Amino acid sequence: MSKGKIAAFIDLQGTLGGTGIDDITDFEFYPFSIEAVKLLNENGILAIVITNQSNISRGIISQRDFDYKINMLSNQLADRGAYFDEVYCCSHTREDCCSCKKPLPGLIEDAVKKHDIDLKNSYVIGDMGMNDIVLARNAGTKGILVMTGVGKGSLSEYRHTWQEYDADYIAEDVLEAVKWILDIK
Ligand SMILES: [Mg+2]
Ligand SMILES: [Zn+2]
Repeated sequence: MSKGKIAAFIDLQGTLGGTGIDDITDFEFYPFSIEAVKLLNENGILAIVITNQSNISRGIISQRDFDYKINMLSNQLADRGAYFDEVYCCSHTREDCCSCKKPLPGLIEDAVKKHDIDLKNSYVIGDMGMNDIVLARNAGTKGILVMTGVGKGSLSEYRHTWQEYDADYIAEDVLEAVKWILDIK
C-alpha cells in the first residue's frame, strides 16, 4: 500500500520572503526561496504554502489583494520553472474560532483530503515556533524552524510561547531546510 507523497508545508512571511510581516502586499521572495521551491518540485515533494492572513477578516486587505499577490509570486516561480502545488490561507481572526488558523491543523487536513500525503514523513517549515512548529506537532509532521523572519526571536524572547515543543531541525533559511530534507550538502 502506498504511504503517500511527502509534502513540505511552508510558511510565507518570514520564511519564503520578507518586508512587512503583517502585510502581504509588500511581500517579496528572499533571493534563495525560488531555488528552494524548485528543489522540492524536482524531487517530487509537494510544495504547499500554509499561511495565516487575518488581515483579510479585519478588512485591511481583501481576498482579491491576496489572490493577486499569490498570482504574482506564482508567475515569478514559473519564470524559473518552479511552482507551488497549493496555497492554503486562513483568513480568520482568533475570534472567528475557525479550525484552520495556525497552529491548528485544518489547512493541512484540507491538503490531505486532496493529495495522498504521508504526514509522518512530511515537514512544516516556518519561522514562528508558536505557529509553525506547534502546527507540525498538531498535524503529525516534522517541524523545521528557520532563522529568517522571527526565527531568532522564536528561540529567545518568544521561546516561552512554544516551550513544550522542539523543532526537529533548525535551519539558516528555507533553502537550507529543503537541502536538509533532501540530504543535500
Ligand atoms: Mg512566518
Ligand atoms: Zn481559519
